[in-house]
Amino acid sequence: MTVPFKVDLTNKVAVVTGGGGVLGSYFAKALAECGAKVAILDLNQEPADKIAAEINEAGGKAIGVAANVLDREALEKAREIVEKELGTCDILLNGAGGNNPRGTTDDEFYNAEEVKNNPDLKTFFDLDPKGVSFVFDLNFLGTLLPSQVFAKGMTEKEGCSIINVSSMNAYTPLTKIPAYSGAKSAISNFTQWLATYFAKAGIRVNAIAPGFLVTKQNEKLLFNDDGTPTARTGKILGSTPMDRFGEPEELVGGVLFLADQKAASFITGVVLPIDGGFSAYSGV
Ligand code: NAD
Repeated sequence: MTVPFKVDLTNKVAVVTGGGGVLGSYFAKALAECGAKVAILDLNQEPADKIAAEINEAGGKAIGVAANVLDREALEKAREIVEKELGTCDILLNGAGGNNPRGTTDDEFYNAEEVKNNPDLKTFFDLDPKGVSFVFDLNFLGTLLPSQVFAKGMTEKEGCSIINVSSMNAYTPLTKIPAYSGAKSAISNFTQWLATYFAKAGIRVNAIAPGFLVTKQNEKLLFNDDGTPTARTGKILGSTPMDRFGEPEELVGGVLFLADQKAASFITGVVLPIDGGFSAYSGV
C-alpha cells in the first residue's frame, strides 16, 4: 500500500491491536511505511505473523504477537515481547473490536403482529445478556486494558499517543445493534476521558469514527448474491452525502495525522469522523 502522505515515525514503536484484521492491517502497514516499528497484536498468532511478514517483505520492521485484549496477563506478556524486540510503545492503536450476532436483533422496529406470525424472530426481548456483555467487553474493555498496559511506558516518554476506533453508531445508534452502538459510544466517551486524564502526562488520546465500508463481514448484508445492492445499502448511501462507501485506505490519512506529533501536537480528545458526511447529514 502507498500512504496518502508521509509523516516521520522513525524510531517510533507502534502497537496495533486487531492488527491482523481488515482495517488494523491497513493501519499497521501505513504506520510501518512512515518508519514506525510495528507490533501486530491479535488474538491469533497466524494473522498477526502474516501481516508482519508482509510489512517486513516491503522493507519495514514488524513482529506478530498473539494476545487477547481482554486478558491483562497476556497483554503484559505481549508488552514484554514488544519491548524486547522493538522498544517501548509510542503509539497504541486500539483496533480490536467488532459486533456479534448475539447482541443483535432481527427486527428494526418492534411489531407485535410480526412477532405473532414469526415466533423465531429475535427481538429486543430475546437479546442474550452474555452476547451483549461480549460486545461491550471486546470493544470497551478491549480498548481500556491495552491502554493500561501500553500507556504506562508512555508516561516516561515524549510525543506518545493512543488512537481508538469508534464508529458512526456512537453518534446515533443503528437499528438492530444496540450492544455494538452502546459499546462504540463508550469508546468515544472514554477517548475524551483518557485524553483529559493523560493531558498533563503528555499522551494524546484520539479516535477515528469510520463510516460505512464494504468488508467481508458485512458484504452479505450490503449486496445480494447477484451483486445488486440490498435495501440496507440503499439506506446507507441515502444517508451518506458523498453517495458511496468508503475504502479502508481512506481511513489511513486520519490515523497518520492523529499519530503525528508535529501535525496533531495540540489535538487530544477528538473523535474524527471519516464518513463521507454521514454524521453531518440529518437526512433532510
Ligand atoms: P476485523 O474483524 O477484520 O478485525 C478485528 C481483528 O481483531 C481481527 O483480526 C481479530 O482476530 C482481532 N480480535 C478480535 N477479538 C480480539 C481479542 N479479544 N483480542 C485481540 N484481538 C482480537 O474487523 P475490522 O473491520 O478490521 O474492524 C476493526 C475495528 O474497526 C473494530 O473496532 C471495528 O469495530 C471498527 N469499525 C469497523 C468498521 C467496518 O466497516 N469494518 C466500521 C467502523 C468501525
